Amino acid sequence: MKFLRRDLEEPNPRVVPEMLLETLSQLDGDSIIVAPGEVPIFITPGIEALGIFKDGKIQSSELLATVRVVRRTNNQQVGKIDIPRGPIGEGKHELTVKVLPLTKDDLVLVLVTDESEAQRVHDVRRDFVANISHELKTPIGALSLLSEAVLGSKDDPESVVKFATRMQSEAKRLTDLVQEIIHLSRVQDSDPLQLAQEVGVEYLIREAIDECQIAADNRTITVTYAESTSSIVLGDRDQLIMALHNLIENAINYSPENTKVSITTSVENNVISIAITDQGIGISDAEQDRIFERFYRVDPARSRQTGGTGLGLSIVKHVAAKHGGEVKIWSVENVGSTFSLRLPIYLPPMESTE
Ligand code: ADP
Repeated sequence: MKFLRRDLEEPNPRVVPEMLLETLSQLDGDSIIVAPGEVPIFITPGIEALGIFKDGKIQSSELLATVRVVRRTNNQQVGKIDIPRGPIGEGKHELTVKVLPLTKDDLVLVLVTDESEAQRVHDVRRDFVANISHELKTPIGALSLLSEAVLGSKDDPESVVKFATRMQSEAKRLTDLVQEIIHLSRVQDSDPLQLAQEVGVEYLIREAIDECQIAADNRTITVTYAESTSSIVLGDRDQLIMALHNLIENAINYSPENTKVSITTSVENNVISIAITDQGIGISDAEQDRIFERFYRVDPARSRQTGGTGLGLSIVKHVAAKHGGEVKIWSVENVGSTFSLRLPIYLPPMESTE
């Protein structure tokens, strides 16, 4: 692990022995050394991505209070703190912090590990595997029955063609399902803010529209995006395009032919909302809470027809949360729906500190 040395403010960083810095850089977790006045004088690179440190300061009042207690009592403290991943949404880093007094110059050492995150990933994966097994059984069962049917009708070419065509569509369904499962597990396991890129929102929207154009043309649905925006967000470009793609594809799939899907953006308090509005079948209030669950579909038969896997919105929700954002829905049955992907706008450091 590379140690990022930061000369933030007084006292002079040289008060920290090189040996200690060496040791910290070898540890698995991240760390901060805090001088009196709660001024962080050293941080490891991962600290910023965890959201504890911004604009030269420790952001968690809970952590600052613990640092003060440790300095006063000279006793170490261990605890858990939750740090929001962004200014909106429910995504959070669940961190274990160990705060220790350093004998020298009243410094305090904060060791941070993301163990709770590892536990959460483990729990999610266990439930996910149970769901997947159930979902895979249907197309696999169908394939097995269809192959028996093909064998049973080998002297009847018409039936063979019929069963083989159905086998093809079940095989496609299986492929789509496996692909979506891979996408979702990647999104759940990754931390897009760790290796974040700066990406233009307009670029993301245009890419996602391009990917859905054939599906839109097939159903004579016009997808419009008439604006332009210079907003930049920080994160994983492919994941963000995938989230928008899923929302646009749903807007197309759950709308009658010859309708419109429109995409607009608005900015408020450094958060950009990308709204995808359709004139489709809508979603009842009761179902609106459930559609973000993995494999949940309002009408499984329709979703099956459109090649839906029931994982699309779950992917969108995870991508949003991992980027410190959220997804909001407005919908009225038989009128249409608006899904808004809301993301914190990236402001270069100079602007954000002013
Ligand atoms: P699917 O692969 O079935 O589309 P999603 O997770 O993307 O799965 O969506 C879950 C369910 O939410 C869909 O099956 C559908 O019932 C409903 N849904 C999603 N988007 C829309 C929309 N724009 N209009 C109406 N219903 C929608």
